[in-house]
Parts: sequence; structure tokens; C-alpha cells
Amino acid sequence: MTLEEVRAKIAASRRVVGFTGAGISTESGIPDFRSPSGVWARYRTVYFDEFVSRREARVEYWRQKVENWPHIRDAQPNAGHAAFVTLHRAGKLRALITQNIDGLHQRAGLPRESVIELHGTTTEAVCLDCGDRITSDEAVARVLAGDLAPECRSCGGYLKPATISFGQAMPYEEMQRASSATLDCDVFLAVGSSLVVHPAAGFPALAKQHGATLVIVNRDPTPLDSIADLVIHGEIGTLLPALV
Ligand code: NAD
Ligand code: ZN
Repeated sequence: MTLEEVRAKIAASRRVVGFTGAGISTESGIPDFRSPSGVWARYRTVYFDEFVSRREARVEYWRQKVENWPHIRDAQPNAGHAAFVTLHRAGKLRALITQNIDGLHQRAGLPRESVIELHGTTTEAVCLDCGDRITSDEAVARVLAGDLAPECRSCGGYLKPATISFGQAMPYEEMQRASSATLDCDVFLAVGSSLVVHPAAGFPALAKQHGATLVIVNRDPTPLDSIADLVIHGEIGTLLPALV
């Protein structure tokens, strides 16, 4: 398909699903994973089973969180996030599935119920026992005050940033909602994802199998480029607003 054909398709659609990865937030100053300056180069990965079994691992994880949190807290949504808000306001966005944990889609103006966070959110901390949540501002303040591995005030369970860690199960309800939306869309826009992290990266292929038009917007090639109806390589902040 040509760019013009896809634009016409979006203009006529009321069931667009957006799917975003770390690439939509780099223009907000949050680094993605797979670049030399990315997160993986600087931090030791704390796996979920370590977090629950060793205090030292919880202390390390919270130390990383405290260091990272100001960058996420102070980041501002960019033109890419705004493009999805435009689609939503035009009544076209069926759902926005994101692998991101930064909360920038909601801060840009998407209602909570439109955003499906497959990997959770770093804007809150959750009690692993009772599910109680507090803001990251509150959790980080507690760590900075010397509570190096904070516990839940209601039940004493371990508090953990509300993201899905390596080794942790995917959230059931979000996976279900993402599947339903994927099966119920006519255009699937995959934006700023290397499309290699599974199971999240399965959704674009599922959409295509079920007859949706698959559009990929990303700086670098992805493994799904060959099945996409249109692949646009370049910067999201300029390309996406032009597309929608
Ligand atoms: P990724 O790092 O694997 O891939 C990001 C892709 O975006 C790359 O292919 C890169 O070429 C592209 N990209 C980066 N900036 C771009 C720009 N301005 N314009 C166009 N393309 C751009 O990210 P992923 O696929 O989301 O998978 C990584 C995992 O990392 C996810 O599970 C996510 O949870 C997590 N993560 C999230 C954040 C965040 O919340 N902002 C940041 C880092 C990592
Ligand atoms: Zn609790």
C-alpha cells in the first residue's frame, strides 16, 4: 500500500489500534532499550524471582528506580503521543496497546481506559501480596528517607514498581484486552518498537492474520517488515502526525 492509501484507510476507519514501544518516547528524552546508551548498558537486571527471594535484590532494584524516576517523572509527551490523542478525539482509536511503562500516553491526554499497558507502569508501586498501590513519588520518597526496600503499609508485603519484570507473568487482563482489540481493528499501527519482545510482538502479526492493515513506523527495520502493508522508516515525531 502507498502512504496515501493508508492515510485514506485511517481517515475512513473507526477501529484503529495503536501499538507502541520505547521508540515513541525517545523524543521525550527517555532512552530505548536496544541502543548503546540504553538502560541495559547501565543497570544490572534484577529478575522477579530474585526480587521476591532476596532483600539485597529488592534494595538494588529500588536503588535503580530512585535513580531513574526523576527522568520519567519530568519527561513530557511529544508529537508522537499527541498523534494518538488526535485519533482518539476523532473517534477512531479502538485502543492503544503499549509496551511502555512511562505513562506518557495518558499524560498526553488518552483516557486510562483506552491505554493497555502490557508491561505495567513505573508511575506506581504495587504490593505483591494485597495489590495495594501507591504513587512512585511516595515510594521513592520512602526509599530516599532510608526505607531501602519498602513494604506495604496495609499488609507488610513487598512493594515493587508496578512494571512487569523479567521472569514475571504477563498481566492476564491486559493480554485479554489487547487480544480483543487486535482482533477487532481494521488498521494496526505499530510505532517505535523493535518488535522482538514476546509475547507483545505477537499482536501485530495477529492483526495482520485477521485482515487488518498493518503499518509499521520505526527508525530501524523489524522482523515483521516483510508482512506489513506499509513500513515507514524515520522519526516518529514527524512521521506519525503526518500519517493521522
Ligand atoms: P526497543 O528499544 O526494543 O525498540 C525501540 C525501537 O524504536 C527501535 O527499533 C528504534 O529504532 C526505534 N526508535 C527509537 N527512537 C525512535 C524515533 N524517535 N523514531 C522512530 N523510531 C525510533 O523497544 P521495545 O520494542 O518497546 O521493547 C523494549 C522493552 O523495553 C519494552 O518491553 C518496554 O517495556 C521497555 N522500555 C520501555 C521504555 C518506556 O517506557 N519509555 C523505555 C525503555 C524500555
Ligand atoms: Zn499489601
